[in-house]
Amino acid sequence: MSLFVAGAAPGRPYWWDAARPEQALPESLPERADLLVIGAGYTGLSAALTAADAGASVVVVDAGRPGAGASSRNGGMFGAHPRLPFETVADRFGRGVAAGIYAEASEAFAFTRGLIEREGIDCDFRVTGRIQLAWTRDHFEAQKRLVAAVTAIAPITMEIVERADLGAEIATDRYFGAIRFPDHAALDPGRFHDGLLRAVLRRGVPVVGDSPVTALERRTSGYVATAGRHRIMAESVILATNGYTQGPFGWARRRVFPLPSYVIATEPLDPDRLRALAPGGRMMVETRARHSYYRLSPDGRRILFGGRAAMVPIAAEAAARRLHATMTEVWPSLADVRLSHSWSGFTGYSFGHLPHVGAHEGIHYALGYSGSGTALAPYLGMKAAWQALGDARGRTAYARTTLATRAFHPTGRPWFLSLADRWYRHAVDPRENAAAERDRRAAAG
Ligand SMILES: Cc1cc2nc3c(=O)[nH]c(=O)nc-3n(C[C@H](O)[C@H](O)[C@H](O)COP(=O)(O)OP(=O)(O)OC[C@H]3O[C@@H](n4cnc5c(N)ncnc54)[C@H](O)[C@@H]3O)c2cc1C
Repeated sequence: MSLFVAGAAPGRPYWWDAARPEQALPESLPERADLLVIGAGYTGLSAALTAADAGASVVVVDAGRPGAGASSRNGGMFGAHPRLPFETVADRFGRGVAAGIYAEASEAFAFTRGLIEREGIDCDFRVTGRIQLAWTRDHFEAQKRLVAAVTAIAPITMEIVERADLGAEIATDRYFGAIRFPDHAALDPGRFHDGLLRAVLRRGVPVVGDSPVTALERRTSGYVATAGRHRIMAESVILATNGYTQGPFGWARRRVFPLPSYVIATEPLDPDRLRALAPGGRMMVETRARHSYYRLSPDGRRILFGGRAAMVPIAAEAAARRLHATMTEVWPSLADVRLSHSWSGFTGYSFGHLPHVGAHEGIHYALGYSGSGTALAPYLGMKAAWQALGDARGRTAYARTTLATRAFHPTGRPWFLSLADRWYRHAVDPRENAAAERDRRAAAG
């Protein structure tokens, strides 16, 4: 039996089916602007909005179709918590920066939610809460320590859910407890991007696609960029290219590498059946190293199941087989369910697992969301714009993180991901799975 329903088009994101008709984009660009934004995902569009509203003339260029990067492919899980434990951030950058980053999770959430409301973006935004599910007992113990550390210093609601109480959230025996983030939300990422694009165009800011920046020369005042058939002079530049960075930005590619993430969508299923599998209706993520993240579709009729099916690009059909098998581990009753979609995108991963906002050789940037940018990228795009305009509103704890490279990564081509893929598959996954199996046997008595 085929894994896919008839007519499925593996490779195409589920979100693109619900997209509104594409925006008509301008054909030509002004020769001069105060600000050139490179990349038309969430980061670039939010930067453009901020600068335009502050009175700057802005131009946005994208190498492909605006939004065709991660911003219309992601899981639509909305929250701005850092991936790292508080103590890890504190060890690296000091407790002040760590506290700032955790506090800004709430600010970023409020900022991006406010942007959606202010611009009237219809993108199925809903406060569903998120649950982070512990794969082993040790992971659950670490979660308890994290909640104690973070809630003592930042205004964040994080609740510990004991294993015995997990049934109210999810019908599976796979996990050993969880952290619940009741304030987190969900949205349709494609419609969110489309609404942002419309908001930028409404301000008269030109956004062009199919215009990769292939050269950027520094002049005595400002820059001259070659973007497809366009040539633009700009006082300042913001690089908002994250996991898709191409062109003359080797500095960024050596620091932010394209780590693929894969998602499948099931065929439409009975909503009551799905509600029984996920009674909490939350966004669900796991603690294991190659974690899965999953949710119901906004109409409650499908499961969207994402994960690192591989750390290198693989075919949509192969990724679908791996993710379907993982989904069936969580919910064995879904073994016969077929898929309507399987797609992937590149997250922009930094070696430190945190994004950074700053400038390199005068070029401003916000990069390195490491797989968590739905709420954070618009917020840090806004911060980058204020920094480019020399305004104190650009202050953020994310200006005090760093984007480091590694000696083994001198070319910007992420050759090491195939090694990492093998290491995770043959060493990390078996170790974590063996621990989980041991814990399950112990729990069963
Ligand atoms: C499969 C997947 C699932 C994810 N799930 C979640 C989730 O559930 N929750 C969450 O918070 N985050 C998630 N993320 C991460 C989130 O989508 C990203 O952090 C966010 O979209 C980054 O936005 P961005 O604007 O910085 O980059 P992008 O949206 O990737 O846009 C970058 C743009 O730069 C352009 N570009 C590159 N080089 C050039 C050049 N030289 N000239 C012109 N343009 C250029 C590209 O064409 C691209 O359009 C996920 C990502 C993926 C891939």
